[in-house]
Amino acid sequence: MIPLSIPKIEGNESKYVLDCLQTGWISSAGSYVNQFEEMVANYAGAKYGVACMNGTVGLHIAQILLGVNENDHVIAPNITFIATLNAIKYTGAQPILIDVDADNWQMDLNLLEKYLQENTEIKTSNNGTFSFDKSTGNRVRAIMPVHVLGNIGDMNRMLEIAEKHHLAIIEDSTEALGSTYNGKHSGSFGEIGVFSFNGNKIISTGGGGVIVTNDEEIAKQARHLTTQAKVSAMDYIHDEIGYNYRLVNVLAAIGVAQMETFDETLEAKKAMDAFYREQLEGIGDIKFQAIPEGTNPNCWLFTFSTSRMRDLLEYLNKNGVQSRPFWMPMNQLAMFKDDIYFNEKDVSSTVYENSISIPSSAGITREQLETVVETIKEFFRN
Ligand SMILES: *Cc1c(COP(=O)(O)O)cnc(C)c1O
Repeated sequence: MIPLSIPKIEGNESKYVLDCLQTGWISSAGSYVNQFEEMVANYAGAKYGVACMNGTVGLHIAQILLGVNENDHVIAPNITFIATLNAIKYTGAQPILIDVDADNWQMDLNLLEKYLQENTEIKTSNNGTFSFDKSTGNRVRAIMPVHVLGNIGDMNRMLEIAEKHHLAIIEDSTEALGSTYNGKHSGSFGEIGVFSFNGNKIISTGGGGVIVTNDEEIAKQARHLTTQAKVSAMDYIHDEIGYNYRLVNVLAAIGVAQMETFDETLEAKKAMDAFYREQLEGIGDIKFQAIPEGTNPNCWLFTFSTSRMRDLLEYLNKNGVQSRPFWMPMNQLAMFKDDIYFNEKDVSSTVYENSISIPSSAGITREQLETVVETIKEFFRN
């Protein structure tokens, strides 16, 4: 079976992990943690990085840092991996789901703007100027754009919309390490960005995440909150409810090694993407994800649309090519069925019903790529 997406471990991973084991620095106080967060922050063009256990907890902490609570709404795209929405629900806030763009599958910015214009009002009080949803009366505090599949929508427009409506931006950049928009790295557009190093992401620590920001105070608070909010080096004094969310050294050691070879990984992904696009162009009714002008994606997971998705999915998995459907739209899941879903044509369900992800490991060989393409062509010949 050609796997969907597995990590590539060909650098100093074993050496650094062994170093942790031999020196006894296996836990979260080790130096690889600092090194890893610095490498990721530098790469993303952000001033500060704070390593945490995974992307999901990173998104949770990011919202706490911006004050998101149970009286708030957080805006998210209707197509994303479940973790985005789970993280919103952890804070007690209610998500507002916005339908996606039919071509690039990111949050539809026309709909975002329309929702804000028609359904929210801006009010000023002693605390400041904020947007409120007219139907619930709750404050709309933040937008959480998701760079779906490592692609990036029009972030300049997103920033303008956020500013106009007094909203913070937390980028769910978990899939987008290595992706840029107009030369600027994902995760560095909003107040906070979050990366994931889960097993199937572009690089992996087994499990891990890094929160990035340019705000020193946010970075300091992120470190504080992820380490049980302890205020004294000696005494067990804590000044708020904290979390045990810090990444451990053994995993950060893997991350440092993965970052060292990241440029090669990125190149391999781009070559894979170029190969698939060239070979699959014009086959059956295959339609690729559109890449907005100015976006340079990391080509994390190759996904395309076809009206024969379900049959193709079965065919590929039966014939040694591991493939997966796209995420079920959030509004279709039981937990979110009562949340606001702003849409006109429910593009999400069409994208979901037609999209399929195919093998995209960074270490995929030319021969495997050819097999994948051949198997897809074979299917469409019948
Ligand atoms: C992977 C992922 C996450 C969560 O990251 P973990 O490290 O697995 O917790 C969040 N959002 C999206 C869109 C993801 O793909």
